[in-house]
Amino acid sequence: MRVLITGGAGFIGSHLAEAYLDRGDEVFVLDDLSTGSIENIRHLKPNPRFHYTIESVHHAPTVAELVDSCDAVVHLAAAVGVRLIVESPVRTIETNVHGTEVVLAQANKKKKKVLIASTSEVYGLSEQVPFREDGNLVLGPTSKGRWSYACSKAIDEFLALAYWRERKLPTVIVRLFNTVGPRQTGQYGMVVPTFAKQALTGRPITIYGDGQQSRCFCHVADVVGAIIGLMDHSRAVGEVFNIGSDEEVTIRGLADRVKALAGSDSEIVAIPYEQAYGEGFEDMPRRVPDLAKVGGLIGYRPTRTLDQILQSVIEFFRDAP
Ligand code: UDP
Repeated sequence: MRVLITGGAGFIGSHLAEAYLDRGDEVFVLDDLSTGSIENIRHLKPNPRFHYTIESVHHAPTVAELVDSCDAVVHLAAAVGVRLIVESPVRTIETNVHGTEVVLAQANKKKKKVLIASTSEVYGLSEQVPFREDGNLVLGPTSKGRWSYACSKAIDEFLALAYWRERKLPTVIVRLFNTVGPRQTGQYGMVVPTFAKQALTGRPITIYGDGQQSRCFCHVADVVGAIIGLMDHSRAVGEVFNIGSDEEVTIRGLADRVKALAGSDSEIVAIPYEQAYGEGFEDMPRRVPDLAKVGGLIGYRPTRTLDQILQSVIEFFRDAP
């Protein structure tokens, strides 16, 4: 198969490219290097089945040309990371909505299958935990910038489903829960690389809020396996799937585990949300996926425990601080 990965120089995209190459496929990456990096794909460049183009996903002629060369598209290019979203809301909304419009419109011309990466953020403040794909999305007010991310991704989902229902473009939607692993940077606010780096350098580990909010962290290799499995499966078309882990941990619990696994004597400190993200920030209190749908279709289950995942991230930063 020849697959186009938008955002393929990003953290998840580069792992996905690697996995497709490993099974003998040909990979075309499109990335503008805004949050991705050449470093992430440098090791793939010698492979003759690997190709990359540095350009924005907004550039329709480039997307059209690449879509022509490929059998399927995985659209990962997006503005991600709570810090980026809070600091650059215009860029977040425009990248996430317009980028997906371009990809879907170009893929539709040739009816090439497209997987759209959405996010667990869309569940917002829903209290129906674990979150099922058919559950309600509960977003906060538009005055709180964080929710623009969920809203922009929800529009992407609506658009992808509309292309399937109205124009018979085969689309698959995945809602990625917190994904971690080697190559993820803490630069855009993600908690696991941030805590790992803090623990390894002896700096204070910064818990935002009271630390009682929870998340489930999944290793990127499991996430990539699920994406490939869904792309390969004809019955995934026109459907939405959660992908992630369902091993829940509070952020305070996470800080304690990272500190212990890193053998660190860092202090653990609590920082008010206002100080971390500015006035009026609203967090998601709990975020746990129901994995029955993706498990039922492709037999997906996350294979790594939280401790194994944290260990791999700590080792990554120990080797390359
Ligand atoms: N967080 C934290 N300290 C940090 C970075 C993040 O306590 O240095 C918290 C953040 O407020 C959230 C959780 O960790 O409750 C996960 O944050 P992240 O940005 O990784 O992803 P999110 O799940 O919010 O998209």
